[in-house]
Amino acid sequence: IAAETLDQSEAQLVPKSVSSDLIKREVARRRTFGIISHPDAGKTTLTEKLLMFSGAIQLAGTVKARKSGRHATSDWMEIEKQRGISVASSVMQFEYRDHVVNLLDTPGHQDFSEDTYRVLTAVDSALMVIDAAKGVEEQTIKLLNVCRMRNTPIITFVNKMDRETRDPLELLDELESVLKIQCAPVTWPIGMGKTFRGVYHILKDEIMLFAAGSERADQQFEVLKGINNPRLAELFPLEIEQLKMEIELVQGASHPFDLNAFLAGTQTPVFFGSAINNFGVREILNALLDWAPAPCERDATVRSVLPTEVPFSGFVFKIQANMDPAHRDRIAFLRVCSGHFERGMKLKHLRLNREIKVSSVVAFMASSREQVEEAYAGDIIGLPNHGNMQIGDSFSEGEFLQFTGIPYFAPDFFRTARILNPMKTKQLQKGLQQLGEEGAVQVFKPVNSGDLVLGAVGVLQFEVVASRLKNEYGVDAVFEGTSISSARWVTCEDKKIMADFERSSAGHNLAHDAAGNLAYLASSGVNLRLTQERWPDVVFHATREHA
Ligand code: GDP
Repeated sequence: IAAETLDQSEAQLVPKSVSSDLIKREVARRRTFGIISHPDAGKTTLTEKLLMFSGAIQLAGTVKARKSGRHATSDWMEIEKQRGISVASSVMQFEYRDHVVNLLDTPGHQDFSEDTYRVLTAVDSALMVIDAAKGVEEQTIKLLNVCRMRNTPIITFVNKMDRETRDPLELLDELESVLKIQCAPVTWPIGMGKTFRGVYHILKDEIMLFAAGSERADQQFEVLKGINNPRLAELFPLEIEQLKMEIELVQGASHPFDLNAFLAGTQTPVFFGSAINNFGVREILNALLDWAPAPCERDATVRSVLPTEVPFSGFVFKIQANMDPAHRDRIAFLRVCSGHFERGMKLKHLRLNREIKVSSVVAFMASSREQVEEAYAGDIIGLPNHGNMQIGDSFSEGEFLQFTGIPYFAPDFFRTARILNPMKTKQLQKGLQQLGEEGAVQVFKPVNSGDLVLGAVGVLQFEVVASRLKNEYGVDAVFEGTSISSARWVTCEDKKIMADFERSSAGHNLAHDAAGNLAYLASSGVNLRLTQERWPDVVFHATREHA
């Protein structure tokens, strides 16, 4: 009776057609995840195959076309021409097994940027792709560390088993020691390269036989029950002996799959396969549906928010310039955190304390941008943005909820901005301020000089900013190299020590970011370390939260 009463009172608050039960059902069937990998590990290929399961086979070409277009040119404006596709395919929604799957792209390659990191704040789980010949690579480490900030559950796919690879046991060892995450192999490869026979599913005690070269969407591979199946011994007598030995070793040396450890982000189930052959991909998708969490509770400044609450709420995690730069038309990507969104509803933009009517909201369905009719927690919707939205902005139906945990990351690359025409200084500052708010680049103003310092985590960000300054603000800016090698936001509980720090020689290296926070710009790793040692009470942060 109590539950019924609660439902009724909730329903009275929202003059909508959706019941709290419907919201619960919709949330429970949603999975929102990102794929993380080092370039070339097979993310694009895997994305294509995953999309094929949704029945949207023509999409496979879309993902490919987009990528080859990027490879063909480093000219950002050329890339920009393709934005129509790329905006759509940076979030892909599809249905599989009565679930709604939201797959968020984490841009890599030359357009690696802060977006890549921030996208991971909008997912509930991640799929990590490892190249079996290369093991753990640099970008994998960076992205995994971002996942770790929120203990995001991670499923691991070791790809390209049809090639000569490294020893799988050694790979697991590397994953555990470098990424500091427990590995629980769920499938285990039989052979590799030319003698790749398939995988043994440890939990199901089944062997799935490998067949190369399939481009079909629903490739069914032959499955044999039981590791002691006589047909196996017939087919691959040598390999099966080896497999039995390895399985014994693996089971002795690794951890059995533990759903709670996975959900806590401390253990990752590991699958082996070959994306290009669509082998092992269905297993991944099933694992995502069966094990990965549905949208969960999110922290906001005043309280945490349950996805099943009826009132709508969400936050902006990414802003992308759209097709036509002349119109300054941008799309703000909003992750729905609770409730039900329907077209035409009024939302409160909390930072501006202003109501907006969102009638032309974009949904990311499969290959195209479509008008969104409705959305639930876990979904991503695109709000048209005419320069008044920032990364981290929260939206609700009225309650003041500022979602937290949307970070800025200390940049790895730095440039100073100079303009050819000093009359345009104002425009430059305005442009950089706005682009900084959008998260396109970070802007630092050193305390001791007038030159603005731009910081980015990927070098293409500078190209994007230069091009947008020119097209949107009419400013020709030149970016020059600097002697800065890293940046850290600095705070100190003791005001006096902070004041001493600012007055010391280290103080010459301080700068204010766009939001007014103080940052230390170090000339080298050694310089940073020495300064940290000299000022043990000052905290040097590699990330800062959206203010
Ligand atoms: P991304 O950079 O991570 O998106 O990687 P791609 O999906 O573009 O793949 C990089 C290269 O690896 C491409 O040439 C793919 O055809 C190839 N590739 C992807 N998966 C496999 C696989 O399972 N086996 C083999 N042999 N090659 C693969």
